[in-house]
Amino acid sequence: MQRKQRLLIVEDEVAIRTGLVDVFVYHGFDVDFAADGISGLDMASSGRYDLIMLDVMLPGRNGFEVCEAIRNGDREQAIIMLTAKSTDDDVIQGLALGADDYVTKPFSVAQLVLRVQAVLRRTCSSATEEAVMRLGNGIEIDVLNLCAYINGTSVRFTRREIEVLQYLYEHSDRPVPRDELLNKVWGYARHMDIETRTVDIHVAKLRRKIESDASQPQHLVTIRGGGYRLMSGH
Ligand code: CA
Repeated sequence: MQRKQRLLIVEDEVAIRTGLVDVFVYHGFDVDFAADGISGLDMASSGRYDLIMLDVMLPGRNGFEVCEAIRNGDREQAIIMLTAKSTDDDVIQGLALGADDYVTKPFSVAQLVLRVQAVLRRTCSSATEEAVMRLGNGIEIDVLNLCAYINGTSVRFTRREIEVLQYLYEHSDRPVPRDELLNKVWGYARHMDIETRTVDIHVAKLRRKIESDASQPQHLVTIRGGGYRLMSGH
């Protein structure tokens, strides 16, 4: 199972907040919420959210202050502001303080979901060149943010999955035996059957994420008697 994207919704109006939580849970997000700026900032500071949705008018500290404080602590945090008024000043101030996007109330839920997906896609592809693994078919994997955009969907990886991919990528000129992966990625010195299965399980998970047909892998292929080989585009 790939990790769900984590969303923090900071909104004091109960009806809007409840509606947003329902919508994003329905769309497969892992959603937390806060009802004021102080607890919102507190939760945001954990750094565990893929995206934070921030109302401007909040008790405690307003959305602009919270946005600025989050941005000062984490340059990469994805933030969308919810502004009540569509005055240009509000929008400009929000974007100047580092929000990735804004949505004006009243908003259409479908619009908001699209905006969230667009921001997540952008933050996923913002990695520097050396932090990107390129496979064939235009697949680009963001090593730092553990994600990729494949066939129109955002895919998340675990740290270990990325480590496996990275090792195969760096040695993509040859097949890599399971023992070598266990040694280099997991740090195991000796071969054991159960640990070899660990490699196979990770490869199976990776295939479900990067291959269009996991039973007919084009990227992460099995070399009979040789291990695994990543057919990269480089
Ligand atoms: Ca409000």
